[in-house]
Amino acid sequence: MNSATRVIHVKDLPIGGPHPVSVQSMCATRTRDIEATLDQIRSLEKAGADIIRIAVDNDSDVEALKTLRAESSARLSVDLQENYLLAAKVAPWVDKIRYNPGHLHHLEKDRATAEKVEGLVRVAREHNLAIRIGVNCGSIAPELLERYGSDRVKAITESALTHCGIMDDLKFENYLVSIKDSDPYRVITVNEAFHARRPDVPLHLGVTEAGMPPDGILKTRIAFEKLLSHGIGNTLRVSLTVPFDQKFREVEAGKAILADVAAGRFTEVPAGFGKGLNVISCPSCSRVQNEAFVELAGKVREMAAFAKDLPVTIAVMGCRVNGPGETDDADLGLWCGPSKVTLKKKTRTLGAYGYDQILPLLKQELEKLSASR
Ligand code: SF4
Repeated sequence: MNSATRVIHVKDLPIGGPHPVSVQSMCATRTRDIEATLDQIRSLEKAGADIIRIAVDNDSDVEALKTLRAESSARLSVDLQENYLLAAKVAPWVDKIRYNPGHLHHLEKDRATAEKVEGLVRVAREHNLAIRIGVNCGSIAPELLERYGSDRVKAITESALTHCGIMDDLKFENYLVSIKDSDPYRVITVNEAFHARRPDVPLHLGVTEAGMPPDGILKTRIAFEKLLSHGIGNTLRVSLTVPFDQKFREVEAGKAILADVAAGRFTEVPAGFGKGLNVISCPSCSRVQNEAFVELAGKVREMAAFAKDLPVTIAVMGCRVNGPGETDDADLGLWCGPSKVTLKKKTRTLGAYGYDQILPLLKQELEKLSASR
């Protein structure tokens, strides 16, 4: 798993080049719930997480970060989500910032992207932080979608390359890139394409919305085993939909994959895996509005078992911020709010229903799809 990339640093942790592939995870608790978040940080650290990501949305999350930093020596990465303007506020309390190029357009619409990135780099330099350029197939910058149409692989690869170019122009080197998708084969394609163009840039691997174990782990293995065995990938996260107190399973799964690849043990993918019903679900973050969404994702999988051979994707997402957009590509989608779950068919919203009402309605829609194919 030796890699020829340059080496970056997150606090005292080197990533890239000859250094071991590190394992990350993310807190699903509300960041401003300091006690719950500290518990989660400790649980992830105990499982061996090298870096722990936390999302911030607002000033009370920023305030909470100060306490979390004081109470824990874990290496912290902050996810700026749509609000990259929070970078300067969170910087003193973290070791790394992650921004999504596809989210920069939400604020300061008249400002050039390169200027926004320059602001982030200035903050990172001032506080000795690493940056992750976190590209995601579910949130591509509008101008790239326009330029590349339905060629998402091209759009996200170009997005990552463009942002690397901005970093290079600014002579900032302490950055890495992630290019994630929910389809493991697309993750392989985009990461290989990126690595061929920029073999010097360390990569953070991830299959986003992989869903629940065991399928979520299998999807992740498909991508990681191929990439890691070809020397691609310097740090990783296994994204799983699990109850919050079991997030440490992401770290365990990541370590198990690394050990297997190092030992030359590779997973045999069952025939037909990925060809029939595909339930994808978000890995949770501090934005989850009702933890019942995790249980609901499990119930959806059970309910939908009757259609296991149907080539249909059902997406279950945990919040109203990214849920509506990230269910657009699925045949049937649920995004979960505090007390209601919105049911969608592709981009069309069918209605919002209680957690105890949604399953039979989803079943009806699935039956209709089954009958029509
Ligand atoms: S869909 Fe919402 S809750 Fe789920 S990981 Fe994305 S931002 Fe977090």
